[in-house]
Amino acid sequence: MKIEDVQSTARQQRVAAHTHIKGLGLDAHGSALSIGTGMVGQEKAREAAGVVVELIGTKKMAGRALLLAGAPGTGKTALALAIAQELGSKVPFCPMVGSEVYSSEVKKTEILMENFRRAIGLRIKENKEVYEGEVTEITPAETENPLGGYGRTVSHVILGLKTTRGAKQLRLDPSIYEQMQKEKVAVGDIIYVEGSTGAVKRVGRSDAYATEFDLEAEEYVPLPKGDVHKKKEVIQDVSLHDLDVANARPQGGGSDLATVMGSVLKPKKTEITEKLRTEINRVVNRYIDQGTAELVPGVLFVDEVHMLDIECFTYLNRALESSLAPIVIFATNRGVCTIRGTDVVSPHGIPVDLLDRMLILRTMPYSLEEIIQIMSIRAETESLDIEDQALAALGEIGVRTSLRYAVQMLAPSKILAETNGRTSIHLSDIAEVDDLFFDAKASAAILANSDGYLA
Ligand code: ATP
Repeated sequence: MKIEDVQSTARQQRVAAHTHIKGLGLDAHGSALSIGTGMVGQEKAREAAGVVVELIGTKKMAGRALLLAGAPGTGKTALALAIAQELGSKVPFCPMVGSEVYSSEVKKTEILMENFRRAIGLRIKENKEVYEGEVTEITPAETENPLGGYGRTVSHVILGLKTTRGAKQLRLDPSIYEQMQKEKVAVGDIIYVEGSTGAVKRVGRSDAYATEFDLEAEEYVPLPKGDVHKKKEVIQDVSLHDLDVANARPQGGGSDLATVMGSVLKPKKTEITEKLRTEINRVVNRYIDQGTAELVPGVLFVDEVHMLDIECFTYLNRALESSLAPIVIFATNRGVCTIRGTDVVSPHGIPVDLLDRMLILRTMPYSLEEIIQIMSIRAETESLDIEDQALAALGEIGVRTSLRYAVQMLAPSKILAETNGRTSIHLSDIAEVDDLFFDAKASAAILANSDGYLA
């Protein structure tokens, strides 16, 4: 077993609950279908969101943001995701919660900046080339072990290759040399070399080529030995944050994608600094000018925006002005409250100068029928079989507690059904789960009755 860093899965989980949402579900005239692309009800908000999508498309949202105001569980996250999907299938969606900025180790504005960069996508076009040829030379460049230990380390390898189009000399990374040694590649062997934008990514024996190289059968056309096999354009979608990380981390043995991305800047640094970001921006802008990359501004969703403080708001005001800014969607369930870090009272706890830049959209509580429809869509997405009566009972629970709580009951109900030897969820499973678990309100009420302490 390996000891690994604890990776936060919160972000993925936050999106996983909304996999059924594929868009706003509007017709050609921008009117909301009662159920469409996974969206149920909330017609007015969806139609308004449709207008926002048009504003974004016509570049009229620059420097502005959207605020979704509504009670918990009224689909604010769902709506923000739907907007991202309307903007395009590969548009990044980065959800965060206001309270995430409070960490003892990292500055608040640094966390905001990181999330801004997660929400800005870049579509990189690269030319992938595959050569086949005969090895004429393998020369490892060895240096003294820099750590002062025994032996020497390989800093790079010169590989000579004879192809039908002439001789080539390629410079390889030590990790690729290791792989060649494992495969016992020697002078005189016929090998393939996969390169991309000038960097060799893989080398291997030709006999293993078709399978190793995961080429689809019809793509693999054997040419006379030693010729260039193919050259194709591959598209990679990355975020500015991915580029920051890949270039900050010292390189070595990572995935293919990490190696390509990590080669944007050299030499490698170990920390994401302002300087590194400026440098990445410069290279990215050059790629864009050259036409090798295209910017894909995504959506940054900041839930519970009232948790941010005045310092964050000041930063956001400035960040929204940047030419490399994503679409920012804020959400809150607060009315008038104090702006954190001040004693100023303001609508939604947001300073008025930032509020002035926002389009505000209200989300309304769902009816019983709508909750049942959402539950039914979720059950289908999670491949759960649920009986109508059970669905109706879950709907009632949703009205009594919250939509989110009711949706979360689906998975445990399925487990109970299985324990009872059934494949579909019965009314009795719902009743049992409802009896076993407490929603937040019920749990808090019990604590309140016992003066804040569990009896
Ligand atoms: P909020 O952000 O307002 O608290 P949310 O979008 O996070 O709400 P949840 O309370 O998590 O919503 O909603 C529970 C589930 O219901 C999620 O899976 C969400 O995708 C789904 N959902 C919410 N609103 C809709 C809707 N209008 N149509 C379809 N599914 C919805």
